[in-house]
Amino acid sequence: MQTQHRLIILLIDMMEIKIENPPNYDILKQIFKLTDINVYAYSPDIYNPNNCYLDPVVILHEKVHIQQQGDNPVDWWNRYIVDSAFRFTQELAAYSK
Ligand SMILES: [Zn+2]
Repeated sequence: MQTQHRLIILLIDMMEIKIENPPNYDILKQIFKLTDINVYAYSPDIYNPNNCYLDPVVILHEKVHIQQQGDNPVDWWNRYIVDSAFRFTQELAAYSK
């Protein structure tokens, strides 16, 4: 098995759903219009600060973002924030799962 595949499987196995703001919440709230129902992927975890019901489809979507982030959520988020074309490709992949 390739190293990258092993890493992704490890990350998904480690995933927790945390009832708290993601580590970059202060930056995100300055840039995006956030709502109480927003959930966030920040590898290796999903952040659901308002403890909303999470449909399995939503969890699957966020897992794709965790895979995309790999072990470097900082770089992924920095690019996601500033690069709308990158953001589009990442969302397209996550919504097509
Ligand atoms: Zn998404």
